[in-house]
Amino acid sequence: MKRNIIIVGSGPSGYTAALYAARANLNPLLFEGSQPGGQLTITTDVENYPGFPDGVMGPELMDKFKNQALRFGTEIKNKKIDKVDFSSDNLRLWSGSEEFSAHSVIISTGASARLLGLESEKKLMGYGVSACATCDAFFFKDKKVFVVGGGDSAMEEAIFLTKFASSVTIIHRRDSFRASKIMQDKALNNDKIDVMWNSSVLDMIGEPEDGGLKSLLIENVLENKTFEVDADGLFLGIGHTPNSEIFKDSINLDDKGYILTYNNSTETSKKGVFAAGDIMDPIYRQAITAAGSGCMAALDAERFLENLHI
Ligand code: NAP
Repeated sequence: MKRNIIIVGSGPSGYTAALYAARANLNPLLFEGSQPGGQLTITTDVENYPGFPDGVMGPELMDKFKNQALRFGTEIKNKKIDKVDFSSDNLRLWSGSEEFSAHSVIISTGASARLLGLESEKKLMGYGVSACATCDAFFFKDKKVFVVGGGDSAMEEAIFLTKFASSVTIIHRRDSFRASKIMQDKALNNDKIDVMWNSSVLDMIGEPEDGGLKSLLIENVLENKTFEVDADGLFLGIGHTPNSEIFKDSINLDDKGYILTYNNSTETSKKGVFAAGDIMDPIYRQAITAAGSGCMAALDAERFLENLHI
């Protein structure tokens, strides 16, 4: 059956698009992808989502989004789309060998944690190295941990880790953070947090079968000095990469892989394909802006379908 709208991804943008499309009687089909609920499911308190004056836990907020989309008839599949063909007006998508088709598609696949790209990082991921403090901090009770990065993510990870670790050191490649002032202040005023300025992680030392990460090889980039420090844990807080790999041959992306949108709307370079949330937003990247663009994408798709007279 050819669908009116297929939504790929299930963060704030995907669920909001589904809510609006369902309420417009367009019977949307939504694919949750490999991280149902998106990045907010791996955060704790969300204090900046309007309407929750006392804050709300990330997973709880996403459950509410999902239930609201379901209430109006969204069909949700716990599957991942891994291939698309947008070469004709019959938009085709595959999950494994199963094929789906639609008149319109909303892409809301979000972004994933960026890694340093070291061989040792691959080997030790899950063995002392992590890209999600909320998921793994619990395993570092009374341990000595490090966080790489200088943005809000790194500050948030470091602050969260102080609830468990004995010490937290932020390793940052420059001499100032890019994080918001409020987050910097919170981190810098925390007694358990130290900062290694102008420093880069050159290597992670340890073996998965021998207790995992043992130490870090660090370079002070100003003094050109290399040294080793004992480490039980290393958390990467260096930003995110848009999940646009499967779309790269079908629609226009910018040089960082974010989907380009046109005409002050969520339209992409392919007619009938719309993009919402972190996948098309390298600037704001907030749950509320993602939800807002999910709404825009559903309205844009609705108008597009109206003009098709189907
Ligand atoms: P970001 O702002 O892009 O910061 C990434 C940080 O990692 C930068 O400090 C960058 O260093 C560093 N970095 C990047 N690649 C690196 C590498 N290969 N080696 C070493 N360091 C590297 O990313 P983000 O912190 O994830 O924040 C993204 C957006 O989400 C921001 O708009 C932020 O405000 C928002 N956010 C908000 C909250 C909150 O309000 N609670 C929490 C998390 C994120 P340089 O500074 O030298 O470039």
